[in-house]
Order: sequence, then C-alpha cells, then structure tokens
Amino acid sequence: MAEITKQVKVPANVCTIVVKTVCDLCGVEGLTDNPWAEGSFDVEEVTISYNSGHNWGQDGASYVEEEFDVCPNCWENKIKPMFAEKGVESRIPNVDY
Ligand SMILES: [Zn+2]
Repeated sequence: MAEITKQVKVPANVCTIVVKTVCDLCGVEGLTDNPWAEGSFDVEEVTISYNSGHNWGQDGASYVEEEFDVCPNCWENKIKPMFAEKGVESRIPNVDY
C-alpha cells in the first residue's frame, strides 16, 4: 500500500507578545520583557499587583490578576511618597548570591 500525499499550507500560529511596556502613571515607554533595565542583566522591576481567586495546586487555578505597570522613577517619586504619607516604609530585603 502506498501513501498518497499532497502539500497543504499550515497557517502560522498567532500569539500575543509584549512589544513595549508603558508606565501607567507617567507614560514613559520601556522595552519588552525587562522594560525598565538598561542592560539584559540589570534588575529594574516594579510590581504592584493583587491576585484574587483560588489556587488548587496541580488541580488548577481560577483567579484574577490585577496589576499596574509603573516605572522605577514613579516608584521612587510617586508610589513610595504616597505610602510614606501614610507612615509606611517599604521592606528592603537584599538579594545577593
Ligand atoms: Zn512612570
């Protein structure tokens, strides 16, 4: 028995990727996966998020991730002063290994 074949076009996958990140407070634009860093080994991350829902481990999860994109300049000059007005200082654990 012989296999009879023909060539067909398979459409390319379409996916969504981040092409830039825009600070929600000042509008400055950052790059893709490490938006606020100068170099690829630099760490400049700001995380302001709230996750709400359920996580059952390996059985799955269902929750909402709510977040803001904020640049390091707005972290220093807008977010930290807002907390400082409430008498709250940030925790500063150091990562060094
Ligand atoms: Zn900003």
